[in-house]
Amino acid sequence: MDQLSHQFITIAGARENNLKEVSLRIPKGRLTVFTGVSGSGKSSVVFDTIAVESQRQLNETFTWFVRNRLPKYERPHADTIEDLSPAIVVDQKPIGGHSRSTVGTMTDIYSVIRVLFSRHGTPSAGGATAYSFNDPSGMCPECDGLGRTVRPDYGRILDPAKSLADGAVLFPPFAAGTWQGQTYTNTTDLDTHKPVGEFTAAEREFLLRGGGSKKVNVNNTGGARDIDYEGLADRFERLYLNRDLSTLAQKTRDMVQEFLQEGRCPTCHGARLNAAALATRIGGLSITDCTRMEVTDLIVALGRIHDPVAGPIAGAAVAALERIEAIGLGYLSLDRETSSLSGGEGQRLKMVRHLGSSLTGMTYIFDEPSVGLHPRDVGRLNDLLLRLRDKGNTVLVVEHDPDVIAVADHVVDMGPRAGTGGGLVVFEGTPDELRGADTLTGRQLRRTRGVKERPREATGGHWIEDADLHNLKNVSVRVPTGVLTAVTGVAGSGKSTLVSGAYVGSRPDAVVVDQSAIGISGRSTPATYLGIMDTLRKLFARETGERASLFSFNSQGACERCQGRGIIYSDLAFMDPVTTTCEACEGRRFKEEVLRLTVGGHSIVDVLEMTAERALDFFDRLGDGFDDKGVRRRLGALRDVGLTYLTLGQPLSTLSGGERQRIKLATQLHRTGTTYVLDEPTTGLHMADVDGLLALLDRLVDAGNTVVVVEHNLDVVKHADWVIDLGPDGGKHGGRIVFEGTPAQLLDATGSFTADHLRGALG
Ligand code: ADP
Ligand code: ADP
Ligand code: ZN
Ligand code: ZN
Repeated sequence: MDQLSHQFITIAGARENNLKEVSLRIPKGRLTVFTGVSGSGKSSVVFDTIAVESQRQLNETFTWFVRNRLPKYERPHADTIEDLSPAIVVDQKPIGGHSRSTVGTMTDIYSVIRVLFSRHGTPSAGGATAYSFNDPSGMCPECDGLGRTVRPDYGRILDPAKSLADGAVLFPPFAAGTWQGQTYTNTTDLDTHKPVGEFTAAEREFLLRGGGSKKVNVNNTGGARDIDYEGLADRFERLYLNRDLSTLAQKTRDMVQEFLQEGRCPTCHGARLNAAALATRIGGLSITDCTRMEVTDLIVALGRIHDPVAGPIAGAAVAALERIEAIGLGYLSLDRETSSLSGGEGQRLKMVRHLGSSLTGMTYIFDEPSVGLHPRDVGRLNDLLLRLRDKGNTVLVVEHDPDVIAVADHVVDMGPRAGTGGGLVVFEGTPDELRGADTLTGRQLRRTRGVKERPREATGGHWIEDADLHNLKNVSVRVPTGVLTAVTGVAGSGKSTLVSGAYVGSRPDAVVVDQSAIGISGRSTPATYLGIMDTLRKLFARETGERASLFSFNSQGACERCQGRGIIYSDLAFMDPVTTTCEACEGRRFKEEVLRLTVGGHSIVDVLEMTAERALDFFDRLGDGFDDKGVRRRLGALRDVGLTYLTLGQPLSTLSGGERQRIKLATQLHRTGTTYVLDEPTTGLHMADVDGLLALLDRLVDAGNTVVVVEHNLDVVKHADWVIDLGPDGGKHGGRIVFEGTPAQLLDATGSFTADHLRGALG
C-alpha cells in the first residue's frame, strides 16, 4: 500500500445549507462517489464545503498583494476541515459564448497543429502565429478570424413589391417620411414609382451604392434645396456597421440587429485563416482539412505522418486526440465552437485537459460526469476517472449512475431525503456494502425493473420528413402522439438535432422544457418565478397595514448596500467573477425595518427561507380565506416535480441544470393536448427520484399530452411506450434511425447499442 492510502480528508461538524453536523473521512488517492436523492446535500459537502475551503486555504498562502486581488471565499460552516489538497472542480457550466473558442483552442490541440504546419508544411506561411485565427498575422482579413461576417439583410431592408415612393424601404431610420428617407423618395435618378423588385441591376446598384455628385431635390419645410445622394448600403454601413456599435443606444442596436444577417465569410468560407495559411499542405492536407475532420478521422490522418522530424509533433497531437476519443467525443471536430457544446460534452472536454496534465496530489471534483453519456460509453468514463486516481490524485464524483458507483473505492450516501429531511451521511463503505444497505440507494441498486408490458397505443402521429440538419441522413420518422416516447442513441448520434432541431422546428406549439438558464436577472427566485411573491407582498401589506412595495427587495424594501441582491458581485478582469454575501443585510436582501414586520410570527425573510413544503404549511395555517392566485396550486406543482426542498427565496442561479429544468416544468403542468419535449430530464436525479419523474410524465400523458424525452437512463427507456433509437454511432457514423418500436421489441433488435445495453441490464 502506498503512503497516500493512509491519509484522509477529514471534515467535522459541517453545516453548509442543509447539512446536519456532517463528519466524514474521505480516503486520499482514491475514487469516492457521493450519491443520494436530489437535494440531500451532496453538493453542499463536495462543492460548498470541500472545494470552497480548499480554494480559500490555497489563497491564504499568497502574499497580501496577490490575496487582495483574488476572490474572497468565506470559510464554510464546519468545525474542522483538514488535510485538503488543492481542488480542481470540473463542472458542467457552459464553456462560454465567445466565438473564438473552439474544441481545438480550448484543448490546446490547435496550437500543436499550428506548430506542425509552420515547421513542416509547404509552402510555410511563417512562424506559428501565421496559423492562428486569433492573431492578425494568421486571421482572414475579411472576417478578422471569425469565419462569419455580418451584412445588411436587403431581403428585410427592402420590400420588393413596393416602390420607393410607396414605402419600399422598411428600415425605420431610412423609411419614407423620415428625414433620411427623403433621399430615396425624392431622387430624380430612379423611378420612384416602380416596385424595387423590378429594378434593373444598374438601378439597384444605384439605389444601394450610387452617390457622390448626384443631387436630390428635397422639398422639406416649404423651401426646396439640393442634398447629396448617398446609396442606401453606403449609408447603412457608415452609420451602423463601420463604427463602434457600443456608442449606439441599446434600443438602436437591437433594432439594427433585426436588419442584419450573419453568414459564412465569403473570403475564407468559414476557415477563419488568411490565404497564405490556407495554402500550406502537409501530406496533401490543409490546416482547415484537419480542423474540419472528426477527431476519429484526424487521428488516422495524422498517424500517416512518418517524417522523422514532423512525426513526433503529429504524435503529440494524436495522443491528445485519443483522449478526446476515449471519452466518447470522437465525433467532434476541432473547429467546433465550444459555445455549441452541451454541458456534458463541455465537462468531458475539460477533463481531457486535466488528463494530459502531470499534476499529482490534487483533488479532482466532478459533477455527474455521466450526463449525456450512453451506457456504452460509461465504461470509458470510468477508465478516465480511475486513470486520474492512479496518477496519485483524489477523485470525488457526485453521481447517480450505478455503473459509476460500481467502480468507486468508497461511496458516501447522503440522505435520508431532500432538504431539511436530508443533510446526513446515511451510509459509507464500498459499493458492495452499499448494495446491502438499508438506504434509498441500496434498495434501488437491489431492484430490477422489467420493460413495460402494456405500452399505451398512440392516438396519431407527427411526421418528421427528410431531416438533414447536422449529421442527420435524410431522416423520416413518425413520432406517435398521446404516448411517452424515448429518443435514444450514443452521444453524438443526433438525438438533440432530431428532437430540438427537426421536430420542435416543425411544431412551434411544442413546450420545450430544457436546462438552459432562466431569465437574466440575478434576483429571480422560486417565489418570483412561480408568481408567489406578489401574493406574499399582498398578504404582508394586508396584515401589517404597510405598503406592499415595502416587502419587495426589488423595490422599497431593498437593503441599501446591496440593492436587494443579498450579495456583492465583483467582476475581476483576469478570473471568474466572484460573489460575497452582503455584510449589511447578511444576505437577507431586505432593510432592517422590514424584518420587524411579521405575519403569524414570521417576517417576509423567514417565509422566503421556508422550503416549498413548509410554505404550504404556512399558507394552510392562514386558513381558506387566503389562496390568492392559487398559491397552493403553485407550491403543489413544485412538489409534483420533486422540488419541495427548495426554499422560496433561493436564487435560481444556484440551481443545477436538472433543477432548472424541473422548475420550468412546474410552471407548465395542467395542460392538455400539448407536446412536451424534454432533453435528459433525469439529469441530477437519483434512481429514487426517477420514479417520481416517471409518475409525473405518466400523468402528463394520461391528461392527453404527448411527451418526447431524449434519454440514456435505461429505467426511462424501459418505461416508455415507444422508443426511437438513433445511430448506429456518433457524428458522421450516426444520424440514422436504427430502431423504432416498443421497449419489448427493442429487446430483440440487432445493430443497436441501446438494445445491447438494455439486454445487459435485464441480465
Ligand atoms: P444535492 O447536491 O444532493 O442535490 P444540495 O447540496 O445542492 O443537494 O442541496 C441540499 C439542500 O441545500 C437543498 O435543500 C438545497 O435547496 C439547499 N441549498 C443548496 N444550495 C443552496 C444555496 N446556495 N442557498 C440556499 N439553499 C441551498
Ligand atoms: P446527441 O444529441 O445524440 O448527442 P447531437 O444532435 O448533439 O447528438 O449531435 C449530432 C451531430 O451533430 C454530431 O456530429 C455533432 O457534432 C453535430 N452537431 C450538433 N450540434 C452542432 C452545432 N451546433 N454545430 C455543428 N455541429 C453540431
Ligand atoms: Zn474570413
Ligand atoms: Zn444587503
